[in-house]
Amino acid sequence: MSHFSCKNGALYAENTPLTDIARRFGTPTYVYSKAAFVENYSAYADACKSNGRDENSALVCYSVKSNSNLAVLNVLSRLGSGFDIVSGGELLRVIAAGGDPRKVIFSGVGKSHEEMRLALSHDILCFNVESISELHRLNEVAGEAGKQAPISLRVNPNVDAKTHPYISTGLKENKFGIAYDDALTTYRLAADLPNIRVVGIDCHIGSQLLDDAPLLEALDKVIELIDRLAEDGIHLHHLDIGGGIGITYDKEKPVPIGDYLTRLFARIDQWRKQKHDGAPIQVMFEPGRSIAGNAGILLTEVQYLKHAEAKNFAIVDAAMNDLMRPAMYEAWHGVQPVVQRAEEAKTYDIVGPVCESGDWLARQRSLALQQGDLLAIMSAGAYGMTMASNYNTRGRAAEVMVDGDRVHVVRQRENPADLFALESIID
Ligand SMILES: *Cc1c(COP(=O)(O)O)cnc(C)c1O
Repeated sequence: MSHFSCKNGALYAENTPLTDIARRFGTPTYVYSKAAFVENYSAYADACKSNGRDENSALVCYSVKSNSNLAVLNVLSRLGSGFDIVSGGELLRVIAAGGDPRKVIFSGVGKSHEEMRLALSHDILCFNVESISELHRLNEVAGEAGKQAPISLRVNPNVDAKTHPYISTGLKENKFGIAYDDALTTYRLAADLPNIRVVGIDCHIGSQLLDDAPLLEALDKVIELIDRLAEDGIHLHHLDIGGGIGITYDKEKPVPIGDYLTRLFARIDQWRKQKHDGAPIQVMFEPGRSIAGNAGILLTEVQYLKHAEAKNFAIVDAAMNDLMRPAMYEAWHGVQPVVQRAEEAKTYDIVGPVCESGDWLARQRSLALQQGDLLAIMSAGAYGMTMASNYNTRGRAAEVMVDGDRVHVVRQRENPADLFALESIID
């Protein structure tokens, strides 16, 4: 169910009219629905439970980079979520939000010494290692810290996720992961390093996947590797299948989370019964978009209408610096007027004030608009605020979280002086 819906011609977030939010907090503002976050997380947690998994045998590690606001992380951590991070900064966020570092897995191709030290000092659950050089560095850093670093290797199963090339990560030519054919030798190397403890295997093949077939194909390849490793005496404790399930931006029909997880667990159960006397293996997920994407919108106000020769433009107060996805991936976001107008619609490009032709949020949309109208850019909860920048010295948008008829400011609007506070003038 959508937590952003129209009642009597006006758009609401849960039980709160978006017009009220704009009046109280201004625009542009990211508006999140707490109930949507809970519902989307629960789709994973409930499917784990109904497939016979408890907290120890399945762990949902929410991908922090999709939406890292502390309130979001706090809501999820109270539901028992773990976290998938890609930087030391994200680890500090998780901790500041009350998350448990022992449920954190650390992904990413470029972990620094400092980030490794930080993560080791908090005893995170696992490092997802993406290269041999990283393995050596981690071994060294762990040795200095007097610790053993728990690791998975992120293997690249070379399956085609059939998604946008910028968000496809499981093919040979991607920078991510260790090539499937090198995985066995890399695991042997890892097992011989004194300050490394091999605990799992990981993959993440891409994002906005609508079908689970590529994920199940990746699972089969991961299973094959786990069995080969077991023959070599390397026994893995967990299997992390990554994130990647897509959402409905327009008319896409992503596989329901429950269906995907049921198929995945069935495959795993069958394999464990056949080859491992039914001995369980912990399963992890790293969902981001499917939890956050439709839990947020970007609320913006029309500043000007411009009727040029070839096109009509609606110039709004949100821009590419607030929501990068259209400029970066030509991503499509729904645009809904916050209050419906009866007048005849025109076709508009929705653009921002930033000095770039790439600064558009939506193209060719049929809308009845007047200056001062409010628009909701839909499905902006994931990779929205986390990708925002200060280009053109624009302060980042405010963020609010709606809980029924209550609205909480979860990040204040940045003010311009904050943007240059760390800068200085030379003599
Ligand atoms: C971005 C990312 C995710 C989350 O992907 P979604 O498509 O948002 O579910 C999970 N794991 C890793 C390693 C990532 O980089």
